[in-house]
Order: sequence, then C-alpha cells, then structure tokens
Amino acid sequence: METRWLHITSENFHKIREASEGVCVIPMGCIEKHGLHLPLGTDILEASGVAYAASQIEPFCVFPDFTFGDVGTNAPTRNDGILTLTVETEMLLLEELCEQISKNGFKKILIMNGHGGNNPWLSTFLRRLGNRKRDYVVSTFMLELPALKKMGQFLMDNGPGSIPELTPEDEKYLIGCTVNKMRGGHACLGETAYIMALYPEDVHLERLGIESGENTHVADKFTEVGISVPAGWDFNYPNAYTGDDPVGCTETIGKAQLRIEAERFARAVKVYKEDTLLLEDNEKRNKNWSW
Ligand SMILES: [Zn+2]
Repeated sequence: METRWLHITSENFHKIREASEGVCVIPMGCIEKHGLHLPLGTDILEASGVAYAASQIEPFCVFPDFTFGDVGTNAPTRNDGILTLTVETEMLLLEELCEQISKNGFKKILIMNGHGGNNPWLSTFLRRLGNRKRDYVVSTFMLELPALKKMGQFLMDNGPGSIPELTPEDEKYLIGCTVNKMRGGHACLGETAYIMALYPEDVHLERLGIESGENTHVADKFTEVGISVPAGWDFNYPNAYTGDDPVGCTETIGKAQLRIEAERFARAVKVYKEDTLLLEDNEKRNKNWSW
C-alpha cells in the first residue's frame, strides 16, 4: 500500500493512519560530504530508502524526509554543498513537526536516523520532550550498515546462496571483507552499498583512491587524556571518509543490505506498534502535570 505521507490524498489519509496503528516514522539524515564517490545526501537517502522498504513489510506512515541534520562544526565555513542548521533550529523544527503529526492522529513517532552526528541532540530532544505536556511519544532508531558487519559472517555461517540477492562473486567479496577485517565507517562499503541499491547513478567508484580514508590521529591526543573536543572526528578524517576503499561493491550487495536492514527496522516498528507502556506512561505524566 502507499505509505508515504506525500503521496497519499487527503481523502485516503485515514487508510494509512489505520494500517499504521498510530505509528509515523520520520526519516532523518543530513547533507554532508561522503568522500568523493557518494552524494551529499547519502544519509537521508539511506534512511528514507530503508524506511520506505520497511513500510512495505510492516505498514506505517513514512513522513517527509527531515533532511537537515547537525554536521561537524567546520561546516558553516565550507562551500562544497554541505549544509547545517543550528541545533536549536533542528529541535524547534522537529518538535513542531511532531505536533503536526500528532494532530493528524499518529501518537507514536519514530525517528529513523541515518546520521550519527544527530544522536547527541536527539537524545537531548527526547529528554526535553519528556518535560513537556503532550499526547504523543517519540523514540529513535539508528540505521546500521550490515554489509560490513553482518553479511560476510552470515555467509560463512550459512553457506553459499543463503543471501538470495548475491552473486557468487559478491559472496566471495563479502567473505573476503570479513576475513581480511576490512575497515568501515563513513562513506564505507555499507554506505556505498545502500546508494548503489537506491541510486546507482550517484555512485562514483572511479573516484576512490584519490582521497584517503585513513585516520590522521591528530586529535587522538585529546581522547587519550579524556578530553572531548568539538569536531574531533573531522580533524582525524579531513576527507569525510573513513576505512578501506569499497572497490568491488555491487548493486546486488546493496539490494541485499537494503532488504536485511528493512526487515530489521520492520521488526522494530512492530514492537513499537504493539507497545502500550510508552503511551500509558505518557498519560500518567499528563495527569500528574502541575503547571
Ligand atoms: Zn553517511
């Protein structure tokens, strides 16, 4: 069924509200550099793509993309396509959108986050929301990159053909990545695989090898003594790229990864859908509220 808020007519809107049992998912990402081989919108494209695929397994409403995430502190000075909003604006915007979602009958909001840099302000957002009177609950889910972490091991445990989308070459490649302890992180194999599955024309593997994904370690001296500095990650990885070059990544690996993560997210949504604890707790808080 059509699950995307933007694609449903006003007349038919009640259908998704009923099928979703009150769950609305906000795909969230950011606009930042992803090496030289992936597009600026990688994180939101991934979150949105996985959310939509999951909604076809376990129906829920897919809210329009929350594209503008919190990007490293050097971003405002750059002019290569990177955008960032202040955290205050992000929080205000997100809260107003949640109010609108609730007004439309969805009382369980789940943020499907594709950008690690959003996690600090999202946890503050959730705590802050806990101190407001409201008739809905909000929770978060972090996107994972199974190509690097899980698929090679799964193939070794379960044998050839156990991930139906993969070709024999894909299987060999993914097992090799696991055995050789391929390093991943940002714009790595997992992110490359997602974009290859969703927007293959946006992946430029021929640009690999030009900029390094190696850690410069220049900011390690702070972490070694327990100091947390702004943009430490950006100092260590100035090319917005971490890990080993994903040469050999294919569209079929991407399609397998997308399905695996969509299934994981669909299971999470099912738990969220069936839960009564969060809304009951919220109801109690509202009753005891003192202004
Ligand atoms: Zn990313």
